[in-house]
Amino acid sequence: MASTARQAGRKPFRHTKESQVGIEDDPSNPKKVRVSRDTFWVSKADVGDGDIAEWFCNRKHQHSKTCFSVIFDKKYGSPFDAPVEFYCDDNGYAYSTAINVDPGPTIYEYRIVAAGKDDLDPGGGVKG
Ligand SMILES: [Zn+2]
Repeated sequence: MASTARQAGRKPFRHTKESQVGIEDDPSNPKKVRVSRDTFWVSKADVGDGDIAEWFCNRKHQHSKTCFSVIFDKKYGSPFDAPVEFYCDDNGYAYSTAINVDPGPTIYEYRIVAAGKDDLDPGGGVKG
């Protein structure tokens, strides 16, 4: 296994949990990205596992801190502690702060911003 140090902060690429969102190029439109799930769900009860949201860049390019950012500045704001914007690391991985709202049916629409791409507005919710 070469260069494990370089991969040290990198979580395995998977977005199987409902708190995890994969981001990839939309094959139908070079100006767009798409996500593995339109709505993520986080839960305070799922400490250490699903109590934060995670985003993984899966675009076919050299990952960097500029892969994407995530901004919760839409109608309902952010379900997480400040800040409202989360930036990815050198490996295209970003994660949220802690949940700071009560569980409910509200879907917090957010923006995924990537250079050269149109903004994408998926959503996220908080479960009990
Ligand atoms: Zn990337």
